[in-house]
Order: sequence, then C-alpha cells, then structure tokens
Amino acid sequence: TPRFKAVLLGEGGVGKSSLFLRIKDNVFGETLQPTIGIESCSKSLYVGGEKVLFQIWDTSGVEKFQSLTRSYYRNTQVVLLVYSVQDSTSLQLLTRWIKDADDHAPNAMRFLIGNKCDLEKSLSDQSVNNFAAMHECVNVFSTSAKTGEGIDRALVKITEKLLNS
Ligand code: GDP
Ligand code: MG
Repeated sequence: TPRFKAVLLGEGGVGKSSLFLRIKDNVFGETLQPTIGIESCSKSLYVGGEKVLFQIWDTSGVEKFQSLTRSYYRNTQVVLLVYSVQDSTSLQLLTRWIKDADDHAPNAMRFLIGNKCDLEKSLSDQSVNNFAAMHECVNVFSTSAKTGEGIDRALVKITEKLLNS
C-alpha cells in the first residue's frame, strides 16, 4: 500500500484544522478547538481499485505565533496549501508557506486547496490558476470543511497525481 505523509499549511483561519477534523471524524464545529493534542490522523482511500494511505498532519495552531518545526515537515511527500476562497489575501500569503515548504520538504508535491467554498468567492479561477502555475502547485477542487463538499474529490485527485508522478 502506498503511504504518503501530507502536511497542512496556510494562514491561521483558513480552515486547516476544520478540514483535518472533517477528514478524521467527519464533523464540523464552529467553536471547536480542534487541534489541541491532536497532530496527525490516518486516512485510507481506494482510487482505481488501489488502496492508498495518507497520514495527514495539522499544525496544532502554532502557525499563528511561531514557525513550524522541522519535525512537522520530516519525510513529507505531500504539501497541502490551504487558502480561503473568501479571502484573496490568504492566497497571496501562501507564498510564505511555499517558501517554508521549499526549505524543509523540497521534493514534496504541492497542492493548492481553496477552502470555505460554501461562502462567496473573492477570487477568479484565472487568478488561482495563475498562482498555481507560478508556484508549481497542482490546483485541486475547492472544499468546504463546513459542508464536506469537495474533500473526497480533492483527495482522489491528489492520489491520482501522486500515483501517476
Ligand atoms: P485554521 O486556523 O486554518 O486551522 O482554521 P480553523 O479550522 O480553526 O477555522 C477557522 C474558522 O473558519 C473557524 O471559525 C471555522 O469554523 C471556519 N471554517 C473552517 N472551514 C470552513 C468552511 O469550509 N466554511 C466556513 N463557512 N467556515 C469554515
Ligand atoms: Mg488550526
């Protein structure tokens, strides 16, 4: 079974922990303090009859006030760059996380995920595609941790890219 370590990156507030909890327990809570004490979870899925296993890591909220540690990035094959579709600044600020990923996990494949797709978009598809091309990320489907929309599709697309690379 192919196994991939995937880390969530992005500004505080874009919904990384909410995506993590949706993937882990299929729940969403506006007022949850999601990552206290939880760092990673496993998620298995079947794509084209093949089983793959992801170990997904969340930042535990430390990105709001300190750098992520080297151990967070260790052996990372998949970087999940999360922004909020409602907040164009959160896309621009991903450049900081791309730089961090370049430094700590230069060989990882990078994926761009627009979360909060249940809210109104403030970014055109064109600008997101340009950003993805410029920063060598694979643009995947938008997601909503709130409704669950797009998450399975995004994981399938990510898996297909990984298995075909
Ligand atoms: P993190 O700082 O990136 O881990 O973000 P959180 O998961 O803590 O989420 C920040 C805020 O955005 C919380 O109030 C969440 O309830 C909210 N949120 C997260 N994902 C979504 C989503 O898909 N849709 C909406 N409407 N709100 C979301
Ligand atoms: Mg968080």
